[in-house]
Amino acid sequence: MKIICIGRNYVDHAKELNNPVPEKPVFFMKPSTALLLPHNPFYYPDFSTDIHYETELVLKINKNGKCIDKEFAPDYYQEIGVGIDFTARDLQNECKKKGLPWEIAKAFDSSAPVGHFLDKATFADLNNIAFGLKINGETRQEGNSRDMIFSFDTIIAYVSQFVTLRQGDLIFTGTPAGVGPTAIDDHFEVFIGDAKLLSFYVK
Ligand code: MG
Repeated sequence: MKIICIGRNYVDHAKELNNPVPEKPVFFMKPSTALLLPHNPFYYPDFSTDIHYETELVLKINKNGKCIDKEFAPDYYQEIGVGIDFTARDLQNECKKKGLPWEIAKAFDSSAPVGHFLDKATFADLNNIAFGLKINGETRQEGNSRDMIFSFDTIIAYVSQFVTLRQGDLIFTGTPAGVGPTAIDDHFEVFIGDAKLLSFYVK
């Protein structure tokens, strides 16, 4: 499986990192070794001193597809969850300055903690999904799918023009504003509405 991540999908986050608001979805990938499964700690890596969290809604692809029409995109995901797109911001800024790809800042081991998924039938409106992150009991990030620049269906249609989607692939759909640094001993709790779907410690 692979993990596809959308960047700059919320206007307020693009602005906080001084990035232009994109006209087309921006995406990058993390390998399957980036998964951090429930009940494992996230080990702060030695190669960075500025690991940031980005809290994101995650789609689980349930059917193989290529060049998917937007109107059929809903058939390709049945479950929605949350994850953290951990980013080595110091390495990413160096890469950006040099115009280099960001892989080392994004694709490293355990950089994609993912929680439990909810069937999309449990949501009254997919364009109104509230989600959030607490660290050590304090709210650090809050977002809502209604503020996404590109909808779930637009993302699936766009990405599948370039990359075949396979059952089991995950799509991180971008972070709202409020990204920030993490530290050893932090306790992460990630929610959709009131449902806690992911929790782990940083070690
Ligand atoms: Mg992200």
